[in-house]
Amino acid sequence: MHESDAVFLEELCPKLRVRHWRQSLHEHTERCCIYCGRPSESIDHVLPRSRGGLSVTENCVPSCLSCNGHKSDSDAFQWYRRQRFYDPRRAMAIRAWLDGDIRLAVRLLQWANPNQNSPAANLDLQAA
Ligand SMILES: [Zn+2]
Repeated sequence: MHESDAVFLEELCPKLRVRHWRQSLHEHTERCCIYCGRPSESIDHVLPRSRGGLSVTENCVPSCLSCNGHKSDSDAFQWYRRQRFYDPRRAMAIRAWLDGDIRLAVRLLQWANPNQNSPAANLDLQAA
C-alpha cells in the first residue's frame, strides 16, 4: 500500500462512519421528521451544539429542514409544545430517544403515525 493510500483511507473512513450513522438515524424513523412526521432531510441536535450538545445518537434526531431551522437554538421541548403539529406521543418518543431507548421511540412514533398514507395525513399536508 502506498503512503498516499493510507492517508486517503484515514480521511475516508471517519466520513463513511458518520454517513452510515446518519443514515441509520433516518432509518429508525423511516425517514420521517421526529417532530412533525414529514420527510426527514437533516439531523437535529436536540441540545444545540452551541450549548454543548454532542453529536451522539442520544442527542441527534431525524428532522425536516423546516423544524430544524425553526427550532434553532431554543429548548426542543418548549419549542415543540408551541407547534401546531405537537403530538404528546411524539414528545414521549423524543424523550425515549434521548434516554437511548430507540426501540421504544420507534414504537411511540409508529403509534403516533400508524399509516402515513391515511386520508388524515394527506389532509394535514394539504392544510400545511
Ligand atoms: Zn419537521
